[in-house]
Amino acid sequence: MSEPATLTGNNHWTIWELVSERLQAELPRQSYLTWFRPLEPMSFDGEILTLQVPSQFYSDWIESHYIQHLKNAASEALGREINHKFIVSSNGKPSARTLAENRQVAESSPVPAKVNSRVSGSNDPFDSHLNERYVFANFVEGDCNRFARAAALAVADAPGKTPFNPLMIYGGSGLGKTHLIQAIGNMILNKQSARKVIYVTSEQFTAEFIKAIQNGKSESFNRLYRSVDVLLLDDVQFFMTKEKTQEEFFHTFNYLHQTGKQLVFSSDRPPRDLEGFDTRLVSRLQWGLVSEMTVPEYETRLAILKRRAEEEKIDLQEDVAQFLALHITDNIRTLQGALIHMLAQASLVGKTISVGLAREVIKSLISKADKVISVERIQALVAEEYGFPSDLIRSKTRKKEIAEARQVAMYLCTEFTRLTLKAIGLHFGGRDHATVIHARETVNERIKIEKGFAELVDQLHRRLELASI
Ligand code: ADP
Ligand code: MG
Repeated sequence: MSEPATLTGNNHWTIWELVSERLQAELPRQSYLTWFRPLEPMSFDGEILTLQVPSQFYSDWIESHYIQHLKNAASEALGREINHKFIVSSNGKPSARTLAENRQVAESSPVPAKVNSRVSGSNDPFDSHLNERYVFANFVEGDCNRFARAAALAVADAPGKTPFNPLMIYGGSGLGKTHLIQAIGNMILNKQSARKVIYVTSEQFTAEFIKAIQNGKSESFNRLYRSVDVLLLDDVQFFMTKEKTQEEFFHTFNYLHQTGKQLVFSSDRPPRDLEGFDTRLVSRLQWGLVSEMTVPEYETRLAILKRRAEEEKIDLQEDVAQFLALHITDNIRTLQGALIHMLAQASLVGKTISVGLAREVIKSLISKADKVISVERIQALVAEEYGFPSDLIRSKTRKKEIAEARQVAMYLCTEFTRLTLKAIGLHFGGRDHATVIHARETVNERIKIEKGFAELVDQLHRRLELASI
């Protein structure tokens, strides 16, 4: 490592992402949505994180009600205390000074910045809610996302004019769905800033909808969402069971679709698995193109990590990159989170970014994490390792291999869940607590004497630890 690592430059988005995650976990959803979601990170100079608030009222309110939350979230996310500063945007738009500052930072970064996406072509400011970091240029292509990416590019190139309308992208958490759908919006605005693009999560959509009804403003809510050229709706699975919102959305969908506007959705599962969804809505979601994003293979994980390091100006050695990409396998957010945590540690105590530090950081992330993992998750992981479907683990079969896998899964449940032995037994086809104790003892004994078995359990242990970061 040639230079000491520092947390400056264009890191403010990343830092704010990490801090926001903590805030979301800490605060009631509504408080988070109301007070923190509208904030925008403007800069970070290594000490002070500057946040833009929509009005003075926000900063006053946060200072008097949430300041401790903000401080705690920041120190947890970064492993050290930092200061913050609020600046108020004028008329809902960033002030001239902050815009200039913003552009400076953006220009010095390798990420292409969008020029004018927050303001529509007309004079009234229109907030698209897009994050300028999410662009195609820094979205790494791999087998896991090739098709979804190509479809997204086609849509961004000719919104509303391809058969991919709506475009529906689904896949597990942290695999790049938000990045990809926002990249569509950023690209459209970069080419045609007069277009009205709006990005919203279905949670936000629901919250706004409810607020609009309460305040007798449903008309303007409707008008807003029906006036857009491109609607990017993230995480539609949150609409499950929210019937009234679904109904409203259904009408908006029809209106936009009929008028040739582009619709893009993401979800953590395919449309057919959206339980509690109106069947008409499920079928609408499947009208265009449905594309899956899957877990990235090792090479792609490595490439994403390197790309991100470059973006953050981190001198990341090959062995460290490989170590992280090898050990953090199923979530890109976690993978990048580890990189940023490592940078924070390195800049704090002047350590170099090494495999040793990577190991420490991964460990410390793990010990801080809430280690609660579901029994189903453990069963699925073990079954995958042994190569059979996970319901066999819960079955009555006494076949040797399955019985072994079952014991290993029970053992891991005693390590990773907070369930009682009795409750664990119940998850395994109604077995009693003595069976669970027996499984635990057997596994412990075998670990001591069988090397191959010990390695297998160790491997599963590691995967579960990482999954709980
Ligand atoms: P999701 O919405 O599926 O939960 P996100 O879009 O929030 O996931 O992605 C999590 C993080 O991983 C983001 O920081 C995103 O930029 C990054 N990321 C995901 N996929 C890629 C990719 N293919 N190339 C570069 N960065 C990626
Ligand atoms: Mg997302």
